Amino acid sequence: MTHFDAVLIGAGVNTLAAALHLSARGQRVAVFEQADVPGGAVKTGDYTLPGFRHDWAAMNLSLFAGSPFFKTYGAELMKHGLAFVPVNRPFASSFADGIHVGVSMDLEETASLIAALSPKDAATWRALVAGFGAQAPHLFGLLGSPMNMRALAYFLFRTWRAKGLTGTLEFTRFLLSSPRSWLSETFENPQVRAMLASWGMHLDFAPDIAGGAMFPYLEGMAGQAFGMVIGAGGADTIVRALLAAIRARGGVVDCGVAVQRITHQNGRATGVVLTDGRQITATKSVIAGIAPRALPRLTGGTTPAHDAQMTRFAHAPGTMMIHLALSDLPEWRAKGLKSFAYVHIAPSLDQMARTYQQASAGLLPDEPILVVGQPTVFDPTRAPEGQHTLWVQVRMAPSTILGDAKGEITARDWPNAAAPFAARALDILEAHAPGTRAKTLAQRIVTPLELEADNPNLVGGDQVCGSHHLTQNFLFRPGLGLADGTTPITNLYLTGAAVWPGAGTGAGSGYLLARKLVGP
Ligand SMILES: Cc1cc2nc3c(=O)[nH]c(=O)nc-3n(C[C@H](O)[C@H](O)[C@H](O)COP(=O)(O)OP(=O)(O)OC[C@H]3O[C@@H](n4cnc5c(N)ncnc54)[C@H](O)[C@@H]3O)c2cc1C
Repeated sequence: MTHFDAVLIGAGVNTLAAALHLSARGQRVAVFEQADVPGGAVKTGDYTLPGFRHDWAAMNLSLFAGSPFFKTYGAELMKHGLAFVPVNRPFASSFADGIHVGVSMDLEETASLIAALSPKDAATWRALVAGFGAQAPHLFGLLGSPMNMRALAYFLFRTWRAKGLTGTLEFTRFLLSSPRSWLSETFENPQVRAMLASWGMHLDFAPDIAGGAMFPYLEGMAGQAFGMVIGAGGADTIVRALLAAIRARGGVVDCGVAVQRITHQNGRATGVVLTDGRQITATKSVIAGIAPRALPRLTGGTTPAHDAQMTRFAHAPGTMMIHLALSDLPEWRAKGLKSFAYVHIAPSLDQMARTYQQASAGLLPDEPILVVGQPTVFDPTRAPEGQHTLWVQVRMAPSTILGDAKGEITARDWPNAAAPFAARALDILEAHAPGTRAKTLAQRIVTPLELEADNPNLVGGDQVCGSHHLTQNFLFRPGLGLADGTTPITNLYLTGAAVWPGAGTGAGSGYLLARKLVGP
């Protein structure tokens, strides 16, 4: 079949969510994915040894599980096999000398871990947790709503009604704050601050970037209130279920074939041309789940102003992934760390700021930040009995290597720099969890360029498909007037992590767009 109502480019969570909603409203949809395996940044595979299932990129599915999309389609997806594993100890940080602090769903446990560093901060944490119920509707309301002047005005009006003028201005000040300014005003202990600031580094909110305070706050509070969820057997549980649900409704998902060109006539999108030569017609919409920079190439150009906006869309520094197959879990110096899903090794705000600055300047950071995921603590099915997988995210890494901040690695290309840079990261892990190397049965390093080769949306290994700094967020994501995915070509829409509300597995932009097109 070559005629559809909607044609979607790329099988990432946003396009798949959009495809399911459009199918549910009676549209005939087709999704075309250039990779052999669907899911984009949400994929799972035996990347080291048979029987060891590693999440290629995203591991934490809390955004998906908490999304408006899941609220509507969760039951349908579960019928198609979607299964989560709940995590009660979502994250912690490891510091030198075996010190650790973390967040458990048990408030008493979190408070006692924080109190060991600062009784005052433990009291502050309790107060923040007590106030979260009042803050959450405002923040989640903002993040879940379409982004335009009307929606923003309504959000401000609602906030003003609930909080008054002073409260609204304070809330706005918080939204504009950098992680460092909010954390320094709020907590006294540097390690408690670092534990939370490390969440900013999952995006490109290094400690001194304005607008970044919201993420440490939200991740901290949500971790406390809801824990985390990971996929049963792997993060790809959501992709497999989405595919099955779309196909059950008559939709098509075709992998291993790229969209080469978006066709349009008289300012209206008409379909796509595939790399295998097929011409596909879309009568109602073409939905491109691609990086903005790819749009002018695929369309042959829209308007000069729009092309310029797409071309200047800025990407964040890259990520390197290290997947380990282990004979046993790491023995952390701080014993308690064994039971957390994520262990951040990010010693201080200053070091995080330095790492970000070095990666942005094209340098391999002297001390990269590690996010060490321990999925098999909660989901032992991902490895042979008694054995484990480790998911190590190395933040941050330059896409083009101009030098080494430590002056040790001479290679300036990823094929040659990967091994020594990974060794640097694993030395850091070894210092916090001695003996991990000896337990390593196999490893797979994925450089920023390999991330991009697998999924062209991860430009330079940018895991969030575009910087989320204030100039490229809210009304400006991916460009002014474009936060609803519209383009100058009628019926052609952009979706994915580059479009408001941005990165993550929450399927936000795809579901917002689909509802805009066919209603709730
Ligand atoms: C290393 C890493 C770790 C992450 N960890 C987490 C996490 O733990 N939790 C979380 O919530 N988020 C995480 N994220 C972010 C999150 O996974 C992504 O923001 C999200 O999955 C992006 O979804 P998307 O819909 O934008 O599409 P993508 O996942 O970017 O997929 C886009 C798809 O489009 C395809 N495509 C592109 N161009 C074409 C074309 N011309 N023709 C056909 N197909 C094309 C690509 O091959 C790709 O499959 C992580 C990301 C990375 C990279």
